[in-house]
Order: sequence, then C-alpha cells, then structure tokens
Amino acid sequence: MQRLYEAQAYDTGQWPDSHWARTAPPLLPCPPLTGHEKAEVAIIGAGYAGLNAALELAERFDTRAMVLDAGQPGWGASGRNGGFACAGGTKLNDAAIARRCGADGLAAFHDFQNAAIARVADNLHRYGIDADRGPEGELLLAHSARAWARMQREAPAAQLRDRDALRREGLFAPGFHGGVLQPQGFPLHPLKYARGLAQAALNAGVRICGDSPVTGLARAGHGWRLTTPQGQLDARRVLVATNGYSADDLPPWLRGRYMPALSCIMVTRPLSTQEQAAQGWTGQVMAYDSRHLLHYFRLLPCGRFLFGMRGGLSADPVRLRVLEAEARRHFERLFPAWAHVETESRWSGLVCLTGSLAPFCAEVPGAPGLFAALGWHGNGVAPASEGGRRIAAAMAGQPNPAPALMQMVPRRFPLPRLRRLWLRLAYAGLALRDGPVRAAPAPAQGGRKA
Ligand SMILES: Cc1cc2nc3c(=O)[nH]c(=O)nc-3n(C[C@H](O)[C@H](O)[C@H](O)COP(=O)(O)OP(=O)(O)OC[C@H]3O[C@@H](n4cnc5c(N)ncnc54)[C@H](O)[C@@H]3O)c2cc1C
Repeated sequence: MQRLYEAQAYDTGQWPDSHWARTAPPLLPCPPLTGHEKAEVAIIGAGYAGLNAALELAERFDTRAMVLDAGQPGWGASGRNGGFACAGGTKLNDAAIARRCGADGLAAFHDFQNAAIARVADNLHRYGIDADRGPEGELLLAHSARAWARMQREAPAAQLRDRDALRREGLFAPGFHGGVLQPQGFPLHPLKYARGLAQAALNAGVRICGDSPVTGLARAGHGWRLTTPQGQLDARRVLVATNGYSADDLPPWLRGRYMPALSCIMVTRPLSTQEQAAQGWTGQVMAYDSRHLLHYFRLLPCGRFLFGMRGGLSADPVRLRVLEAEARRHFERLFPAWAHVETESRWSGLVCLTGSLAPFCAEVPGAPGLFAALGWHGNGVAPASEGGRRIAAAMAGQPNPAPALMQMVPRRFPLPRLRRLWLRLAYAGLALRDGPVRAAPAPAQGGRKA
C-alpha cells in the first residue's frame, strides 16, 4: 500500500505503550476475516467514524455492516488521542467557511460541531460506557500578549479569564497571559470510549474483523470486492474510514487529497495534591494554547498530567524520540514547577488533514456505492463520531445529512509526493509566527517595570 510515513507508523502488531492502553479494559479480540464473505455494507476502519457508522446502520437502518480493521478496534487515533471531545474538524475559520458555502453552510457546520459533542455524550450514556468523563468546558490559553488582546476583543466577557482568575480556578501556568473558557466539550478516556463503541456494535450484531488490513478494493458486479491477507468480502456499499492511516491507493481517488500528520503525547506519573498546588494547576478542565503549533494538556482524574503537541515529520523511532524530547522540553517550560516530575508514558499517532482543510463525508465521485468519512484535522473525537453517523444515513440512501462543507471534494495537494516537505515548510513558518515557548510572558515592548 502506498503510504506517506515509515512502516512503523502503521504497524498494527503493536499497541502504543500509552496511558490509555495501560488503563482500558481489554476488548475481546475480533478475529480476522477468512474465506469469501458477502455483506450489504463493508466499513474499512474501526475507529470512531467506522464504529459510529456501523452502529447507526444497525440501529436506524437495520443493516449489519462488516467492519474491517488492520489492527483491533481503536488501534488508530481513536485509541491514542488526548480525549478532548470538543468542536473542531477543520483548519478553516468562519469567514473562509462562509466564503465557501455561504452563511447557511457556516451555520450548518456549527450545528454539526455542537451535535458532534452531544453525540459523544449520548453514546456514553446510551451504551453505558464509563470513559472517565471530565468537567464541561475547554480553556484556550493566550501564549502571547497579542493573542490575549485578541481574546479580550472577541470573546464574551463572561468567558474571559485573566491570570488572577486562572490562578483562582486552579488553571494557572506562568507562560500564559490569560484565556477563554468556552462552555462546550468535555474530556474522556479515548480508548475506553472506542472499546465501548466496539462492544456496543458487537452487541448490535455488527461483525468486526480485526487484524484484517484491506489490501485491495475493486469494483465487482454491482458492488465492491475487498481483499485481505486471508479473505475476500463482497459488499454493495463500502465506507473508507481510515483517516490518518489511509493509503494513497485505497482507493486511488484519495491519492494526494489527504495529509497525515503526527501528534505526540506524554503523561506524567501521578502528581501529589501539593505538587498540583505548587504549579497552580489543580482543575481537570481540558486546555490548549493559542499557538499555531499548539500544545494541549489536562490533568487526568488519576492525578497524572497529559501534555500533547503537534509536529514531527517522521515515524522513524529515532526521530520520534527527538519529537518526544522536544515535547518534554516544552512541558517543562510551560509547567516549570513540574520540571522534576517523571514522564510515565509517551506515544504518537497520525491525524489527517485534507487538501481543502475540511473533512470529507460523502460518496466518492465517480464511484457509486463507495463512501469516505475522514479528514478531521486533529479534532476527531466528536466530529468523527457524528460524521460516522451522518455518512451512514447517506449510505442507507437518504439525502446526505453532512454539512455542505463536508461534502465538497478535497483538492489534491500540489505535487502530492512532496506532502511531507510542504508540512516541514508549514511547520517552520508556523513556529516562526508562534515565537519561542517561554516559561513566563515576556515584558510588554517599551513597558516599564513596576
Ligand atoms: C496523539 C493524538 C492526539 C489527538 N488528540 C485529540 C483530541 O484530544 N481531541 C480530538 O478531537 N481529536 C484528537 N485527535 C484526533 C482524533 O483521535 C482522530 O481525529 C479520530 O480518532 C479519528 O477517528 P477515525 O475513526 O476517523 O480514524 P482512526 O481512529 O485513526 O481509525 C482509522 C482506522 O483505520 C484502520 N485502517 C487504516 N487502513 C486500513 C486498511 N487498509 N484496512 C483496514 N483497516 C485500516 C486503522 O487501523 C485505524 O484503526 C488526536 C490524534 C492523535 C494521533
């Protein structure tokens, strides 16, 4: 298969040594596809998108899909993310979305984002998934005076938090100038959520075939034939829900339209209550900063601290260690009172951008019966869950309920083979715009010391 990163990034023989893998209950292994089978619907990818699509097809449309994953359910980003169930899914701002699909299209996308968060909450409730759900809200922290000034201009006053307020609320780190506490979203244990969805799908009669990498996808009669190392599956309709783990030739239409990008996470040992207080960070609200190459972090219910960062251009183990060391340096600068606290686990995974900076959730043009739902731009816990639900309705023959933005075919990146080079250049430019990661705000230009 034609993929963008080193083979290690796709090695489903191993789970990342993540805090999540260490603390999630095991799912009964899903045996591989063997022999020649038939199904109405085949789904490639058992992450949030694929599993939600399978659940929707079973529950609303009485269709039992077969889900194939190269690993076990949740092996991809769905089992290794930061657990922020929040709005997102695109790199476009509101003005750009409105230019592309009008005011109605923008409103529909906002509705989708809200529905996506509600969907995750509903899934947890409906299937009785105990995924360590945390407090409501998401804190955006200003990494520069300019970012803080912009927040003060644009955010509702009730959501603004200056440094004193952050300290009072137990969400203080010296490198930030202030923040906006948005009310939407909540944190969860991502792998408990993914495995809970997989269990719910199995309970609903869905067949999940683990260790079944789809290596071939071709038209066959009125449908499609999927080939795996040990089997074949004929299905009338197929969903590609492979996101950052996609391949350029599965299907070839995808070639160059998506860009996987690495994100890495470290989790500390449990922090004592004194250590938490020493830093001024005692709350469990999820938080991220206003950098383009953003950091995201939160205190877990067990007292460990999760710190994540985008960046990195290689899944080669040696290069990954370099990325992890950089993440650790940033952590120590932003949370200096914890510089002595050991890292307990670290891992990385692939998110997925598209050539049009928005998700795609529709039938593949020129390929009747072939659908795709992917491109969540690093924010897929909620959007991939809702996207999977909406694409299921389209696959069941209903008008596609995904917002217009998500039905627009992603452009190809120019010279797609050079995608990692484009990413390198983009990261270099964004890092320059972000400026250095500092432990404390720089004094204002021309300002006097008190
Ligand atoms: C480190 C990290 C941190 C993140 N943090 C957050 C966060 O805090 N909040 C948030 O909203 N989002 C976050 N994300 C993004 C989020 O995890 C993803 O957007 C979301 O999980 C995507 O779900 P998915 O089902 O589309 O894809 P995935 O969960 O990636 O699933 C794709 C599946 O497809 C399978 N697959 C691929 N190719 C084949 C094939 N040929 N045959 C069979 N199976 C195949 C893979 O094995 C994989 O299991 C993070 C991602 C990473 C990597």
